Amino acid sequence: MVSGVSLGKIIVTGAGLGGLLTSYILLKKGFKVELLEEHKSIGLPRHCSGLVSDYVAGFFGGLVREHVMNRFTEYSVKMIEDSRFREALTLSFRKPVYLVDRVGFEKDLCEILTSLGGEVSTKTVVTDVNIRENSLTTSRGSRYYDLVVISEGATRRLVRSLNLCSVSRYLIGPQALFFVNKSPETVEVVVDPLLGSEGFGWVIPVDEKQVIIGLTTTSKKSGLLLKYLAKKVFSSLLSYRVKEFFGGLIPIDRPCEKIIGKNYLIVGDAASITKPVSRGGIYSLIEEVAALRDSLSGDSLNQNLLMSRYRKLLNTLRIQYFIYEAILSVGGYYKLVRSATKSGLREVKILDYDKLVPDPETLALLASPVIGIGR
Ligand SMILES: Cc1cc2nc3c(=O)[nH]c(=O)nc-3n(C[C@H](O)[C@H](O)[C@H](O)COP(=O)(O)OP(=O)(O)OC[C@H]3O[C@@H](n4cnc5c(N)ncnc54)[C@H](O)[C@@H]3O)c2cc1C
Repeated sequence: MVSGVSLGKIIVTGAGLGGLLTSYILLKKGFKVELLEEHKSIGLPRHCSGLVSDYVAGFFGGLVREHVMNRFTEYSVKMIEDSRFREALTLSFRKPVYLVDRVGFEKDLCEILTSLGGEVSTKTVVTDVNIRENSLTTSRGSRYYDLVVISEGATRRLVRSLNLCSVSRYLIGPQALFFVNKSPETVEVVVDPLLGSEGFGWVIPVDEKQVIIGLTTTSKKSGLLLKYLAKKVFSSLLSYRVKEFFGGLIPIDRPCEKIIGKNYLIVGDAASITKPVSRGGIYSLIEEVAALRDSLSGDSLNQNLLMSRYRKLLNTLRIQYFIYEAILSVGGYYKLVRSATKSGLREVKILDYDKLVPDPETLALLASPVIGIGR
């Protein structure tokens, strides 16, 4: 085994999707895992919308099936102009995109972990990790470990205190679930200059009577922007009622270059691996977890193999960073959509939702000087 790390006791810090999936993979391979979560319930507080590609849903397989709430083969992109919604263009996908009830899914996953022999401690905050001494401190005492998995999500308090990768920039993502008299047919993506060059909004039909409205922005007035967006969305609806507010932070630093050391592994948002254009994080998370699964053999972990698989993911994300920076260089999402529609573009066909691969015809148009991405 090349540069193998021998694993005895593994502690996973944070029971979000990253921590749960990592624990699942490790338990399935026969390792001893303790999972620590600061909140009292798994899956809560809720922050994610739960849109995942066909590829990601396939990775979860039967585990996710009963938590799929809706599926879409296209998104409608709308722009707010003269304070009204205007249909701009359609994003159509070769394979469906699924809306997953993450809270239910995570609760089920946690039960499976327990049945596999995993030890799950809620209401346990990890306050400090001492990498030199293989120990960590929690609100309920200290622990020793052979490997600590840092899957603390976007807060990145441990990653920051350990100086493991750069941590400074976030998008804020407020959302709300509404009861309505009739939901839209499909997901609506909303571009508006008020959301800032890096921001956009969304309306996701959960079912016929419930929608999630949310947005990402760097503005500190994200709550007001959510109210503003909801008002625009509902101006044509007869009635609506807020069921729940939720949301969270989305890390937007460049991904950590190194996710593994002698006795630690960084997983998911803690490593800032969200897709730069859409800011979805689950795709990168499962790629990282799959790399971990394939790097485990016997009782050890092949670090070189894990890092080479991780670098492939970073390359995929680098291409998307290039597109993202091109979008910002033309003034952001709103300006891009406006100039795309002015040039007559009505449909963007996406061949791969996660890798953001458009069909060749769309690619040629996006690269044309009329729209400006290629400039
Ligand atoms: C508004 C919004 C919408 C999103 N929508 C999508 C989407 O549609 N599709 C998609 O792919 N991605 C989406 N994402 C991103 C996605 O939610 C994340 O990429 C994903 O949740 C990352 O999983 P994670 O396990 O790394 O972190 P998290 O899910 O955040 O889990 C981290 C866990 O660690 C716990 N924790 C943190 N610190 C400690 C500590 N010190 N001690 C103990 N426990 C700790 C937290 O309580 C939490 O349970 C969205 C994010 C936001 C904010």
